[in-house]
This record gives sequence, structure tokens and C-alpha cells, in this order.
Amino acid sequence: MGPSGPCPFEEALLPAPNATEKRPTFAPADGFHAAIRRRIDDYFRLTGRRRRDCPEMYRKMAIILAWFAVSYLLLIFLADAWWQAVPLAISLGLSMAAIGFNVQHDGGHQASSNRSWVNKLAALSLDLIGGSSYVWHWKHGVLHHTYVNIAGHDDDIDLGFLARLTPHRKRLKIHRFQHWYMWALYGLVAVKWQLFDDFHNVLSGRIGSSRLPRPRGWDLTTFLAGKAVFLALAFAVPLLLHRLWVVCLFYAAVSGVTGLVLGVVFQLAHCVEQANFPLPSGDTGQMENAWAVHQVQTTVNFSRKSRLAAWLFGGLNFQIEHHLFPRICHVNYPALSRLVEETCREFGVRYAVHRSVWAGVVSHYRWLRRLGRPVST
Ligand SMILES: [Zn+2]
Repeated sequence: MGPSGPCPFEEALLPAPNATEKRPTFAPADGFHAAIRRRIDDYFRLTGRRRRDCPEMYRKMAIILAWFAVSYLLLIFLADAWWQAVPLAISLGLSMAAIGFNVQHDGGHQASSNRSWVNKLAALSLDLIGGSSYVWHWKHGVLHHTYVNIAGHDDDIDLGFLARLTPHRKRLKIHRFQHWYMWALYGLVAVKWQLFDDFHNVLSGRIGSSRLPRPRGWDLTTFLAGKAVFLALAFAVPLLLHRLWVVCLFYAAVSGVTGLVLGVVFQLAHCVEQANFPLPSGDTGQMENAWAVHQVQTTVNFSRKSRLAAWLFGGLNFQIEHHLFPRICHVNYPALSRLVEETCREFGVRYAVHRSVWAGVVSHYRWLRRLGRPVST
């Protein structure tokens, strides 16, 4: 979503009634966004490629959903020894993360297809794995994508007292150890979403300091039905065949794998040493940069040359391209990244990349350590 044109999300972009800060605005467009859009338009016109409805995307969605279904069915109905159940639980957890990265994320951004029902269906795969596509739309699609890395407005960098992810949050003593304990807490991300956060957000009508419009009609139905289907798949069906403690143990294991992978991969894009954490001006509430420049400077790509990483992470390793063009299907990002990097160079906008997943993980570790020190720089 860019800054131009009327914003369809005005209601949610209002701060919650007791919030003290106004929503930031961005500096006027400086030509960078227009130039990059022109080049991307030319690319699609000249190559004849599609922005959405790409055959490789549909292939990938089918493979990942089949991976999920086979892992689930084998784990629940066939595994009868721990050495069968443990690898299947890991496989199921990874397939759920892959659904999040590859199926739900594009669908939620209306980037899978030109047909809205296809996007809706892809987005609903999040409800299948326990998250709410309704809450995600506001939290990620609207707040995170508009105000990325702006403290007080991007809920993704606000983990309460648990961690200090931005220099603009108060440091607590416990943060001294955050570069050690956060890895374990990422394992709880999925459980927290599935069983607590979505309900809390909907009941309170808030996401952090922002208002969340209460779901009604079809949105309320899919929210409730999604949670019911997930709880049935995670608990009711397995309980027909297995004891309660076994079901709870494997639920924790599968969700732990999903949460760890989702939590870490999402942090590599924005919570690393190379990303900026700018604040709006105290007087005007305006950001120093225009919207598109802000998106690039708060985001870092990783593992750009690996086809495996691009396939598995659904373009989350091309977050710069994703933040500039969230409605373009992620299978196009590797090709677009050269054009984006070139345009950044011409306009003097820094384009940051980690060579590998590991380099991103190390940078996130260093960022946590730096912000947890008594005197951070
Ligand atoms: Zn996104």
C-alpha cells in the first residue's frame, strides 16, 4: 500500500482512543517510487510475465498443502512409535510455517490471483493453521506494512517487556539476556497466536495502540469457524486416538517448530543491524523520508541467490521488493530485485542484503545483544 490515493483503512489507522501519538505521515514523494514503478511496469510488459496467477505459484501451493495434509494424517492416524511421531511432528510444524510464508501471506496481500475469491481462500489457510486471517489483515497488511519499524505504530516491533527490538523502547534489566532467551520465546509465537492473541485483539478491539474494527458478518463467521476447525484438528481429532498428555505434548512440539521458524524468519527482515528505526518529527509528525524510501531503509533482504530459500520462504527473503510491491506474487521477486537494486543505487537509497539465512540470524543475534546492553549505541 502506497501513500497515494485515498486510504481504505482510515478507521483502523486512527490511534486507539487513549493513544497519545498521532499517526505519522511521510515526506512527499521524491521520484523514487514513480521511477521504480515505471521500471516494474516495463518489466511485466516486455517479458509478458504475470503479476499474479503464476503457474509456479499454484504448483507450489498444491505441494505445500499436500505436505501439510500428509504429515498430519500420518502423525495422527499411523505413527505408533516415538521415532515415527517426532520426525512427522517436525515435518508438520515446518509445513505450517511454509503455508504461512507461501500460501497465506500472498493471499492476504491479494497477491496470489486477480480473482478475489482465490486470494480469500489462500488467506484462509492461516485460519487452518490456527491464526486469524482477519486480525492478520489489520496487524500485518495495514499497520506493519504502512508504518514498518516506527515505534508505537508497527506492532511487530512491540513485544512488551519481553524484548527491546527498537532503540526507542525503554531498556529493562532483563533485556541484558534477550539475545539468549528470545530464541526460546520465538517457539511460543504460534501457541500465543493460536490460543491467546487473536481472541484478545478481537475482544479488546485493539492491536497495540491501534483500533481494530470488530469483525462482523462473514468476517466474524470465518474468525469463529477458523478457530473451531483449528481446535478440532489440533485437539479433538487426535484425542479420538491418543491420550490427552500425548496430544498436548505433540501440539506443543508442532507449534514450537512453526513458531520458531516463523518468528526467526520474520525478524531477519526488520530487526537486524542494517535496518533503520526512524521516528516522526516531534513537531509535524512527519517522517524524514517518502513512503517508498522508508520501506527500503527499514528492510533487509537475505539469501537472495538461493533458489531453495526463495521457494521455502515465499519471497520473505525479498522483503524489500515485498514492501514496495505487496500485491505482486512473490515468485516474481527474484527477477524484480535487480531492477529495484539498480533504482536504489541511482537514487542513493541504501539496499541492504544478508548473503545467507545464517548471516541474517547472526545479525539479529547481534542486534538483540546490542539493544540489551546497559548503554546501547
Ligand atoms: Zn507482508
